[in-house]
Amino acid sequence: MVEMIESPLASVPQAPRPQPGSGATSLPFPHPDRADPTLEAMLLEAAGLLAGWFSTAAAGRPLPGLSVQPPVAPEASGLTPAELLADVQRLMEGAYNPNHPGAVAHLDPPPLLASVVGDLIAAGLNNNLLAEELSPSLSRLERSLCSWLAEQIGLPAGSGGVPASGGSLSNLMALVVARHARGLDGVAEAVVLCSADAHVSLAKAMRVMGLASGALHALPVDAEGRLASEQLARKLDALQLQGIPVIAVVATAGTTVRGAADPLVPIAALCRRYGLWLHVDGAIGAVFALSPSHRLRVEGLGAADSVTMNPQKLLGITKTSSLLLLARPALLSETFATGLPYMEPSWGVVHGGEAGLQGSRPAEIIKLWLGLRQLGLAGIEAVLDGAIRRRRQLQALLAADGRLLLRGGSFHLLAFRPDGFDRQACEQWSQRTRQQLLQERLMLSRPDYQGHHHLKAVLGNPHTRLEQLEAIATVVASSVAVP
Ligand SMILES: *Cc1c(COP(=O)(O)O)cnc(C)c1O
Repeated sequence: MVEMIESPLASVPQAPRPQPGSGATSLPFPHPDRADPTLEAMLLEAAGLLAGWFSTAAAGRPLPGLSVQPPVAPEASGLTPAELLADVQRLMEGAYNPNHPGAVAHLDPPPLLASVVGDLIAAGLNNNLLAEELSPSLSRLERSLCSWLAEQIGLPAGSGGVPASGGSLSNLMALVVARHARGLDGVAEAVVLCSADAHVSLAKAMRVMGLASGALHALPVDAEGRLASEQLARKLDALQLQGIPVIAVVATAGTTVRGAADPLVPIAALCRRYGLWLHVDGAIGAVFALSPSHRLRVEGLGAADSVTMNPQKLLGITKTSSLLLLARPALLSETFATGLPYMEPSWGVVHGGEAGLQGSRPAEIIKLWLGLRQLGLAGIEAVLDGAIRRRRQLQALLAADGRLLLRGGSFHLLAFRPDGFDRQACEQWSQRTRQQLLQERLMLSRPDYQGHHHLKAVLGNPHTRLEQLEAIATVVASSVAVP
């Protein structure tokens, strides 16, 4: 028997013929040739939903209870905008709410208005920063803004960089570039130096780079949580004697638990003396270099070879927004360029996809650009001022108690625990107190730091007022009485 293979076209003769100008189908893509009332209505409804979520944040709680999960699999036929948005509403009910004034647990502030819009526009444009023919205006914007930011934080003229989806990726790229620039690709015994309080992403980077975990030398910190430069000098001498090559020294400008800044000036001097690459993980602190009145907190930043900056962590740029900035940005393509045989040549400097690890990339630059310009220099300064002011206020309130060990630094983070409690007592205290704070709609985090659990406040939320800080101090004061 001969099997008939039917043409798919032959099987749909009764399907309604497309109307002229209506596009091939009624699939839910925005019309390319006329106004699209469905699109506009859905955008407006979604905007209303989001606006409602923002405007009722303070009435809710930072960390909501469990919510009903909407169905996950696609139905046999597609849902209407109203049905889709009803499901979105349910997800929103269970979402962490960074806009609540009591949300002071993490490095996740409320989003700036223009940044939210920037994300929407980036999604709508759906350009790809992989190659210039897929994102002509945006590739230029990205390069220009990276150069402006790099020079603004003190890197030399001609500096620049590339956005990355998160600081972990920026740190990884920095180390890969440093290794390549120092001619250490494939050298198994090469090491990286950092402090014991450096971010976990460095350990992850070592794994990705095929280096042994022991190749990350985490040096002890001083009482203020900073890498002691004398320790670093001794270590560098020892490595030199042993003939062990160094990929990079990583200094942290803003450690994740307490916001300490390693002393960048002496560390940079050591790196110059030994001819070493200095990467500054400024995921938290680098944005402070954008303001003349806060720049001293990261003095020496401009002497780095590379800097990680995360505008998503304090400035309110929606996630993800991280940048790797370099004094010599050409090293990016020297490290990562492969040629893109399926693309027209770049008419700028280099394709986005050859300036880093990521291939296809969204236009994350739009929300950063719009957010910074909506703030203006005065707004950037005000965000930084407010964060530092709130940290000082909380610090003063908690110090007045007299029974707490405060672990602060140069920025807007503050960790603390009762003085004299052992590990077990700290664990119980921190768990109990976090629950009590949550009942008061105040959310702090509970890092395990130097052998003890602490409570930690990150004071980047511009909605947090003295009222919330006093409430935190009251709950904490009553909790310290019970070991
Ligand atoms: C948050 C953080 C990172 C990692 O950033 P992600 O965007 O979460 O990947 C790196 N370094 C420090 C110091 C951080 O605090």
